[in-house]
Amino acid sequence: MKILLSDSFDASLPGRLAKFGTVTDDKSALPDCDVVLIRSKTKATADYLAGAPKLKIIIRGGVGLDNVDANAARERGIKVFNTPEASSVAVAELAFAFLLAIPSKIIEGHTSMKEGKWLKSELKRTELFQKTIGIIGVGRIGTQVAHRAKAFDMHVLGFDPYVKRHTLAEMTTLEDLCSRSDYITLHTPLNDETRGMIDATLIDRMKNGVIIVNTGRGKSVVESDLAAALESGKVAAYGTDVWESDPPPQTSPLLKAKNVYMCPHIGASSKENLLRIGDQIVSILERELGK
Ligand code: NAD
Repeated sequence: MKILLSDSFDASLPGRLAKFGTVTDDKSALPDCDVVLIRSKTKATADYLAGAPKLKIIIRGGVGLDNVDANAARERGIKVFNTPEASSVAVAELAFAFLLAIPSKIIEGHTSMKEGKWLKSELKRTELFQKTIGIIGVGRIGTQVAHRAKAFDMHVLGFDPYVKRHTLAEMTTLEDLCSRSDYITLHTPLNDETRGMIDATLIDRMKNGVIIVNTGRGKSVVESDLAAALESGKVAAYGTDVWESDPPPQTSPLLKAKNVYMCPHIGASSKENLLRIGDQIVSILERELGK
C-alpha cells in the first residue's frame, strides 16, 4: 500500500499513517499510489486521475470537494472522502476575526502606526453589539459563526434553501437577509446555485455600507461587481479568505479594490484543525482498510 501526501498536512501524519503502508510526499510517485491525500491545492481532475492507475482512495482533508472530479473518480471506482466536521471551528474563527478586525480598524491602526502615524481621531470604529448579521449557508461553519455572533449580542439572520428552521438564526429569504444585514458572511459550497451569487443585482438590495465576509468560496462573488460596489462605497468592506483561484491572478480586480481585507485561504489551517483532519484521515483508512 502506497500513500501520497500531495498537499501539506500536520507533521505528525506520515508517522501515524506508517501502519497502513509506505508514505511519501513525492508527487512523482502518483502512478504507484493506492491512496492520495489532498487539501485544496491539488486538483484531482480527470487528467490527474488518469495518471494514477492504481488509485483506490482519495481523501480531501477539509470540506469542499470542488477540487475533485467526482464523476471521473466514480467511473474509475475510486472512493472519495473528505473530513467535513474537522474544520468548522477553525473557519468560523477566521470569519469572526474578519468581523472583529474590519469594523474595529485593527489593520488600519496597525499599518498606520508602523508608518509612524497616530490616527487616534481619524479611525472611527463601529461595534458588532446589536447589529444584524446575515449568514448565507447555515451548515456546520455558518452555525459556528451564529454561536459566536449570539455571544456578541448580534441579531442573526440566516438564508439556506435546505434549512427551514435554525435554533440560532431567524431564517429568511436571500433578498430579505441582504436588505436587513449590517454584516453578511458567506458559508456556502461552490455549486451551480452559489456560483456568482453575490452580483450587482443582489448588492443593490444590500444596506449602504454593508460589510461582507467570505470564507466560503471565491467564485460565489462576481469580482468585478463587488469591486465596483467597494469603489462606490455601497459595500464598505470585503474580508476574504477565498479567491477565484489559489492564488488569484494579478488581474483580479479585488486585489486593487478599496477596503478589501485579504487572507491566502488559511481558514482551515489552524494547528488544531490540521490535527483533527489527521484524526479523521486515520479513522477513514482504518475503516476502509480494516486496520
Ligand atoms: P456544510 O455542508 O455543513 O454547510 C453548507 C451549507 O450551505 C448547507 O447548510 C447547505 O444547505 C447550504 N447551501 C447550499 N446551497 C446554498 C445556497 N444556494 N444558498 C445558501 N445556502 C446554501 O459545509 P460547511 O462545513 O459549513 O462548509 C461550508 C463551505 O465553507 C464549504 O463548502 C467550503 O466551500 C467552505 N470552506 C472554506 C474553508 C476555508 O479554508 N476558507 C475551509 C472549509 C470550508
